[in-house]
Amino acid sequence: MIVDLHTHSTASDGQLTPVELLDRLHRHEVELASITDHDTVRAYADLPRLPGIDVVPGIELSSTWNGRTIHVVGLNIDLDSSELAESLRQQHAARCRRAEIIVDKLRRQGLSIDLDSLVQDLPSMSIGRPHFAHALVRSGQVKDVATAFRKYLGAGKPGDVKTEWPHLRAAVASIVTAGGTAVLAHPGKYRLTRTKLRCLASDFAQAGGAGIELACGPQAPGLAKQFRELAGEFGFLVSIGSDFHAPTRWNQPGLDADITVGCKPIWEAW
Ligand code: AMP
Ligand code: MN
Ligand code: MN
Ligand code: MN
Repeated sequence: MIVDLHTHSTASDGQLTPVELLDRLHRHEVELASITDHDTVRAYADLPRLPGIDVVPGIELSSTWNGRTIHVVGLNIDLDSSELAESLRQQHAARCRRAEIIVDKLRRQGLSIDLDSLVQDLPSMSIGRPHFAHALVRSGQVKDVATAFRKYLGAGKPGDVKTEWPHLRAAVASIVTAGGTAVLAHPGKYRLTRTKLRCLASDFAQAGGAGIELACGPQAPGLAKQFRELAGEFGFLVSIGSDFHAPTRWNQPGLDADITVGCKPIWEAW
């Protein structure tokens, strides 16, 4: 079975509309999918059903833990949960405040962004660093998105503003309250030592997190082994996804569910 429980649409920072994304997943023979936009479930409004592909409601929440940004994927959430809606209103407000801080930080680097017109043209509910990167490229201030991240927006750069996110515990709670399963997203992307990652997994489990992404896009085989061990130690269910954002990027939709053999796949309970 081909599965993809981590993808993005234009509702956050993906390049395809929710309908185009579903179509793409379908063409990549994905049978079980989730659209997990950053801090919004807008993609699910009026989403059509396609035969042959099951879509589980999902989200990817931004949070902080020990001064780092940690992403928590929520799967099988109740889209009508009023508690979730309130959390997402707060995330949205946090993104708007953060956007102003980012503009300010970029201005100090000699870059200029007109936030009002940027926001006006966005289909996204979740303004984030990729939108700033694209704006800098469009206005000719930076040559490409990769450079924008490397110089201004990537980890540790002035535009990497993370002060506005709720704590990891709160993000997990929002998902659990909405009846979903909280999954530690792309554990390999935080550049943590083994010891720190174990510490994160432990705190995540204690907060009510119940899953971990075994694979997020193509990755070195050694990593899945490490995450498999964490899943065993903390009793996590395992999830897999591509973190697909755009057809032009390196990671395409769909992962083979065989990678989860020997673990407890998150979808078996659904
Ligand atoms: P934000 O949610 O505003 O913190 O933006 C984070 C998003 O930026 C991630 O979900 C990625 O989609 C994107 N991103 C992060 N690093 C890079 C990079 N080096 N190049 C391109 N996109 C990136
Ligand atoms: Mn993204
Ligand atoms: Mn992420
Ligand atoms: Mn993602």
